[in-house]
Amino acid sequence: MEKKYPMFTEEHEILRQSIREFVEKEITPHVDEWEEAETYDMDVFRKMGELGFLGLRAPEEYGGGGGDYWSVVTLFEELVKGSSGLLAAIGVHVEVAMPSIMHAANEAQKQKYLVSAIKGESLGAMAVTEPEAGSDVAGMLTTAVEDGDSWVLNGNKIFITNGARADWIVVAAKTKKDAGYGGITEFIVDTDTPGFEVSRKLDKVGLRASDTAELFFTDMRITKENLLGEVGRGFFQIMAGFQPERLLLAVTAVAAAEAAMDMAVDYAKQRKQFGKAISHFQHNAFKIAEMATKIEAARELSYRCADMYNRGLDCLKEVSMAKWYTTEIANEVVYDCMQLMGGYGYMMEYPMQKAWRDMRIQTVVGGTTEVQKLIIARCLDL
Ligand SMILES: Cc1cc2nc3c(=O)[nH]c(=O)nc-3n(C[C@H](O)[C@H](O)[C@H](O)COP(=O)(O)OP(=O)(O)OC[C@H]3O[C@@H](n4cnc5c(N)ncnc54)[C@H](O)[C@@H]3O)c2cc1C
Repeated sequence: MEKKYPMFTEEHEILRQSIREFVEKEITPHVDEWEEAETYDMDVFRKMGELGFLGLRAPEEYGGGGGDYWSVVTLFEELVKGSSGLLAAIGVHVEVAMPSIMHAANEAQKQKYLVSAIKGESLGAMAVTEPEAGSDVAGMLTTAVEDGDSWVLNGNKIFITNGARADWIVVAAKTKKDAGYGGITEFIVDTDTPGFEVSRKLDKVGLRASDTAELFFTDMRITKENLLGEVGRGFFQIMAGFQPERLLLAVTAVAAAEAAMDMAVDYAKQRKQFGKAISHFQHNAFKIAEMATKIEAARELSYRCADMYNRGLDCLKEVSMAKWYTTEIANEVVYDCMQLMGGYGYMMEYPMQKAWRDMRIQTVVGGTTEVQKLIIARCLDL
């Protein structure tokens, strides 16, 4: 029989099965405990490294699998069904921090950071956002000043995933105060450097299995070997990394919405009111039909973009379209799933509330819906 999605080869299907088994054995049994502790057990990260899940599309010469973009899509689609919070943490390591190194680092930096990151021996993070500079990245206030053979960093960052226990963090700082986008430079910061401080672990509504932190840098000296890429090119290096990240946010929003719908449909078939299953009321059946259609449309858009990205085509506009559309649609779906479950959906003992809490932030992280529309409008010369 012809496959519905031919881009997933036999190899991808084998990979999907092994990730699914890993999720069932190593993730699902611990989700409640991690949600409570607001962090996950580092053992799971190390095991993912041993199994090769952290470097699926990283070059083989650094220990990666040399796979295509669909291999990472497969990983993310399966992980999100286990724990969105864990995926947020692993996702930042694999598809935000590591690609920054892959694309901009020199050979010595790749050997030092990439190799251990792929093995699951060092955890990475990316620090761009600041209290006064969220969507407006160029408005950042953290500075890096050249002094002899080092750079001296001062400032602070907020909402940094993995920030509380990363071994290294790609930090963006201003190296030229009034140069706007051209004044930003990236550095690789070892978190045992004097002057580095995790000032707060932040208490979140959802994605609770991942830690999110506020960081301070005070007269922190970084050796010149830890400059990442070119001085003044940081903003462009960050933007290049945004596309695959946003696309994965789109793909996982669809997968998580579908998992929520399956849960709600099972419930609606079981739950009886007025003498019949609530799924038999036409309004509810139509709501489920709408959800299924929205999910299908969102998946087609995100897969089309993933295909463009995988083939190396320019897809800046399409990625922004997929990011805002899928995450907004997924929130609509999860909202309707909650409604379908009545009061039970709102109870902590049912997993639907977690799907709803985890989904809410997807329209914000990786660039808000409004920022995606700004990008699309610019691409349309508006
Ligand atoms: C759980 C979580 C994890 C995160 N992880 C990381 C991380 O690992 N690293 C990192 O650097 N950052 C991270 N972030 C930060 C995230 O990228 C920012 O929250 C996001 O970019 C928005 O910035 P902000 O929160 O400051 O909102 P603002 O930029 O203050 O936006 C507030 C509102 O104004 C709107 N807005 C802003 N500008 C415009 C405009 N020009 N036109 C129209 N509307 C506009 C926005 O769309 C939004 O609705 C994380 C955030 C969260 C919540």
